[in-house]
Amino acid sequence: MKDGDYIGARAPYGYRKDPDNCHKLLIDEDTAPVVRQIFEWAHGHVALNRIVRNLNEMGITAPSHYKKSTGEITSPGLIGSGKWQTRTVMKILESEVYTGDLVQGKTKIVDHQQVKAGEDNLIIARRTHEPIISYELFTAVQEYRKQICEESRAVPKRPYTPNIFKGKVFCADCGRSLHRQRAERKKGPDVYWFHCLTNSRVAKDSCKGVMMQETELIATVTAILEKELSVALGMSLPLFQLEAKQKKDKDRLKTQMSARRQETEKKRRLIRGLYENFVQGILTNEEYFELKADYEESIRTLSGEIEALEKDMDALDSRLVRCRSMEKDAKSLTQDHALTAELIDRLIERIEIDHERNIHVTFRFKSEFQGKAVEPCTKNM
Ligand SMILES: [Zn+2]
Repeated sequence: MKDGDYIGARAPYGYRKDPDNCHKLLIDEDTAPVVRQIFEWAHGHVALNRIVRNLNEMGITAPSHYKKSTGEITSPGLIGSGKWQTRTVMKILESEVYTGDLVQGKTKIVDHQQVKAGEDNLIIARRTHEPIISYELFTAVQEYRKQICEESRAVPKRPYTPNIFKGKVFCADCGRSLHRQRAERKKGPDVYWFHCLTNSRVAKDSCKGVMMQETELIATVTAILEKELSVALGMSLPLFQLEAKQKKDKDRLKTQMSARRQETEKKRRLIRGLYENFVQGILTNEEYFELKADYEESIRTLSGEIEALEKDMDALDSRLVRCRSMEKDAKSLTQDHALTAELIDRLIERIEIDHERNIHVTFRFKSEFQGKAVEPCTKNM
């Protein structure tokens, strides 16, 4: 590193490794102009998000996909979506490598893990390779970015309220998960919005676009959930009746199981008897083995039946648990009208919003009543 040797596994985007010396960087004529363009945009105060969208709209291959095409990356884990991301552009804008300098040793390995190393750990070698941009351009961009960063930090911020819909809300049009954005208000509480970033990050008009205020989403989802739970519970027996019925069902299963266990024991005794008869010469060799095989077959059938009954028993137990918890959820919703992250996570699989602001909720508990695999806790069973 001190001699200005490049020690990275792959050349930075915009460069390629010298085929004669893998520690030297050469300009990659295909991608260097992209790097230059990114810096020029940043210098012209084009916002980061806009740069990302420009690159995607121009159809420029994102670095990881480009390096896949050159064979530098083969591991599928390192290949992203193919679209440019904000962090990719940010990393490029922060890399001194484009000025022709090598600044290495930013990270070090501690206990087999890559961690950030301190400033004094940096190994700087100047003019080790051909620059893509000038020092002046790089410095100007760094200063402008620092200024923006400080400006945004200077404004005191209220903390974000927790996102109770985390990982659950998606764009019905393009499938992307919706971004939660805050609009700060001087008077009154901040306003939160959910919206689809596809148009601003991938390409304009590539999605019909979705936008909804969080309060509206909460109100609608609460109403949908209340209705759905009451329908689901309306189909079910009241809990105390369900518990009584459950007990009866379990007793029935227990009787069936114990009958089969006794039957199994009987067959085992018969097999032992057969052997004695065989030894005493009452049964021939052939007769003995034929009868023994018969009994063993019926023991196998019985044990299969016992196993199935045990499964039924477990299913009864877990059904009661589910019905109990659902009744509790419904009660807390109707009483306090409070939608919590925990409730959403337990009851809702996915929420989709379309460009006309229709909300479609996929429930987790639906399968309890509609699925065939699980016996429902309904009145008509
Ligand atoms: Zn979308």
